[in-house]
Amino acid sequence: MGLAIVTGGSRGIGAAIAEKLAADGHDIVINCASSVDKAEAVAEKCRAHGVKAVPMQWDVSDHAACDKALKEIKETLGVPYILVNNAGITRDGLMVRMKEEQFDDVIRINLKGAYNMLQLCGAMMMRAKQGRIVNISSISGLVGNFGQINYCAAKAGLIGMTKTAAKELGSRGITVNAVAPGFIDTDMTSKLSEELKENAKKQIALGRFGKPEEIAGVVSFLVSDNASFITGQTIVADGGMI
Ligand code: NAD
Repeated sequence: MGLAIVTGGSRGIGAAIAEKLAADGHDIVINCASSVDKAEAVAEKCRAHGVKAVPMQWDVSDHAACDKALKEIKETLGVPYILVNNAGITRDGLMVRMKEEQFDDVIRINLKGAYNMLQLCGAMMMRAKQGRIVNISSISGLVGNFGQINYCAAKAGLIGMTKTAAKELGSRGITVNAVAPGFIDTDMTSKLSEELKENAKKQIALGRFGKPEEIAGVVSFLVSDNASFITGQTIVADGGMI
């Protein structure tokens, strides 16, 4: 069991991943953008599993802040064994009306943020000759989605980054995979209209949205010894939608 970093771990899918990895016996760093109180509440639940859990605030889109945080983590807790790039935002709008800022914000946080952590953490893992990295993409990155050209570009980009990092880090025994969730019940999807949600459910074979715990289970598998020969893959967990 090793140390895991979960970005955007203060709520939703990230919080469920942190709790599941803690239940699996990993120490956890719960990164958050601003809500340290919420991250501390998640840490408290993780500690109930008898592991160390530390909330830490930094913006994943800020390379210098990621570097500073990782150096502090290495000094106080050791080299991370697991990195889960989960932090993400949406700024939806139809392409022809999208503001430059909407596009840039989503690419900066969802794609560049994951790259920052992947690059810095990947270098530490290479020296340690071990590690497990999971990037949280989306089915939107595989099939596209109305009103999400920024988000789809970032999530598709994350899949390309996953495949490349898997090739570059594989010789050091590090695996890099992505999970592409479909609709999951979190704050991110609570913003959607009831009509859109009902229409989406009609396209899901299981007829419902997923729970954050159902994504956490996939991540738990990918970082486990059972997945030691799987790398560069994208696992779709969408209840049979695409
Ligand atoms: P959420 O909005 O509930 O949580 C997102 C988390 O990311 C929050 O904790 C937020 O504080 C954090 N975050 C945002 N910007 C950050 C930054 N700059 N630095 C650090 N942390 C930051 O969303 P969620 O539904 O739990 O989504 C988690 C991940 O799963 C995202 O990458 C999202 O794109 C992806 N995803 C979600 C769904 C879904 O249906 N909910 C589907 C597919 C993929």
